[in-house]
Amino acid sequence: MLKMTCYNCHWSWSLTPEAAQAAYDTLEPGAKHYTTPCPHCGRTNKVSVKQLKQALPRTAEPGQKEG
Ligand SMILES: [Zn+2]
Repeated sequence: MLKMTCYNCHWSWSLTPEAAQAAYDTLEPGAKHYTTPCPHCGRTNKVSVKQLKQALPRTAEPGQKEG
């Protein structure tokens, strides 16, 4: 889960692993940042791809169940 805070209105929200994956899939090759509008004020917020990667769903590990 990636915690986002809007630089403009300080609204905070989270990017689910699924949303992070969907966002990651839309990135241009070599992109350094992902941009997403704040759900509250609509301002564009930037997230580094490194941070986005950390929020991606983990690949299923054998013998482990989540949830
Ligand atoms: Zn905002």
